Amino acid sequence: MPRLSSDLQDAGVYTLIPNGRYNAHVIAVRDTDKNDISKPLTSQGGAPMVQLDWEIDEGEYAKRQIRFDTLMLGGNSKEGKPISLGALCSFLHFTGTPWSCMDCNNTEASRKFYLGDIADNTIGLKKGNFYCPDCKSPKPRITYDTGNFMGARCGVGVASRKGNDDREFNNIKGYTDLA
Ligand SMILES: [Zn+2]
Repeated sequence: MPRLSSDLQDAGVYTLIPNGRYNAHVIAVRDTDKNDISKPLTSQGGAPMVQLDWEIDEGEYAKRQIRFDTLMLGGNSKEGKPISLGALCSFLHFTGTPWSCMDCNNTEASRKFYLGDIADNTIGLKKGNFYCPDCKSPKPRITYDTGNFMGARCGVGVASRKGNDDREFNNIKGYTDLA
């Protein structure tokens, strides 16, 4: 083994942010392939996605960053099942990022989704799913600009999980209203 040296001038203590809910905003958006920026970023299975880096806004952990939050934008899983877009809809809903519905062609705007109610079963909507508030189409298709994801702000659920090397790191568990 060669003998190495490491410069410790920027070696801060590596600590986890405790699990909980924090106000945070997006400080980086990766939406293109790192080897070919003309291609969208995709999962290994080819599903489109973005990776977000978040920064905590306030409190003891202000300025701390949580990187590589993966937000799936569509496509299918390796097993061929459609990927759930609940996280994408939550992100748009709670950050107020503009979107428009391709079913009713409403203008791109910051708007809350309509969340299906138990009473909507008769019109084919599922309780708790995200729908366009203007047309309540049972199979909505939406459009948005990932360029608007930069700076988006909401509450985030922070958790920790183990990486491949068994070291724990923080990740984003979900999005919610600002505290
Ligand atoms: Zn609509």
